[in-house]
Amino acid sequence: MNDILPDVSGTWRYLESAVREIVQAYGYSEIRVPLLEYTELFRRSIGEVTDIVEKEMYTFLDRNGESLTLRPEATASVVRAGMTNGLLHNQRHKLWTAGPMFRYEKPQKGRYRQFHQFDVEALGYEGPDVDAELIIMNARMWRRLGISRIRLEINSLGVPASRSKYREALVEYFTGVKSQLDEDSIRRLEQNPLRILDSKNPEMQAVVEAAPVMLDYLDDESAAHFEGLRALLDAAGVEYTVNPRLVRGLDYYSRTVFEWVTDALGSQGAVCSGGRYDGLVEKLGGRPTPAVGWAMGIERLVALFAACGGEAPPLAADVYIAAVGDGTERRAFALAEELRDKVADIRVEVNMGGGSFKSQMKRADKSNAEYALILGEQELAAGRIGVKPLRSDDEQASVALDDLAATLEAKLK
Ligand code: ATP
Ligand code: MG
Repeated sequence: MNDILPDVSGTWRYLESAVREIVQAYGYSEIRVPLLEYTELFRRSIGEVTDIVEKEMYTFLDRNGESLTLRPEATASVVRAGMTNGLLHNQRHKLWTAGPMFRYEKPQKGRYRQFHQFDVEALGYEGPDVDAELIIMNARMWRRLGISRIRLEINSLGVPASRSKYREALVEYFTGVKSQLDEDSIRRLEQNPLRILDSKNPEMQAVVEAAPVMLDYLDDESAAHFEGLRALLDAAGVEYTVNPRLVRGLDYYSRTVFEWVTDALGSQGAVCSGGRYDGLVEKLGGRPTPAVGWAMGIERLVALFAACGGEAPPLAADVYIAAVGDGTERRAFALAEELRDKVADIRVEVNMGGGSFKSQMKRADKSNAEYALILGEQELAAGRIGVKPLRSDDEQASVALDDLAATLEAKLK
């Protein structure tokens, strides 16, 4: 679990706002859900035989003996919120949420125990138009942020009926090669053979590569849905590859699944993952409701943005006010408030705690401000102030205090 320190928090905020602005421009509204839910919610939605539920959840009993879990992902909570607040009765909702998620994983680069996701869910939409929209939205984000080293993989998992035929084929295949399976996969063979395809064990890759593929077992409607998605992506000029082994780690997906992956971050290459989960609401006790969404890992987005040469615009102060001499500090304080009133969006830092002219100028420089505003006793008496550029060799100017707001307004444009 990491502290996000001031040297990087600006980049975080920049990326989060860019992503937020884009999803809001597509008509998605924010929903905020609790960090804690009953453990049962995640067991039922994510599935018993998954990495998350088997070994990654932070679960504990509260004072009343109820089992609670720190959320490992947001979809289950958003769906639960939709159900408990009656948002799913003959309504459709395009929602986004963001915040920390918790998984007891082996910490390594790009994999943390508290990490952050930006999450989008479209509840009540059958697709494939909305599936395509969700992906096109991602493509816009990459373009806006100058992220180039990323590619899209898509697949379809069909519906439960076609998937159960596929499941049989998989069981037959994996049983035939059982001696080559690892412990996890042997256990999954009985309970959830699809998850074997999601194995992270490199020694299992060859066996997995040769397994039957879901696309050969798709029902007609799912095949048409997948075709529809592909046509919309083609029309939008979004490139993708069909990866028939993409199954995603969670149980609740149906039809469309996709993942944006990068080779820029070592083995933690999944930046944004999503898919359709038409059966989830019903599984949690609601009326059948189609739904689709994605989740983006913010730590990985931050790392990828940097790997692609991205830099967030600096958030330094515009001006740093230095005040030296009798009566100047109080005047500087009032002047700062006056500038904040008069100059739109100006960032003003006032020197705190006095100090010599030299030490104040050092602080001004360290603040990365564009200008130091220098108020000494003489200036104060003359009703003027020194405006010293800190990022260029231009001369210091003397400006009447009455004209300062207008002068800065023009200079900072
Ligand atoms: P992975 O295959 O890397 O374990 P996942 O399939 O478990 O990913 P999801 O549950 O789909 O991931 O979560 C969506 C996104 O959240 C991932 O694509 C990734 O960017 C990010 N993510 C998942 N787990 C972590 C983690 N422990 N630390 C940082 N980011 C994570
Ligand atoms: Mg994982």
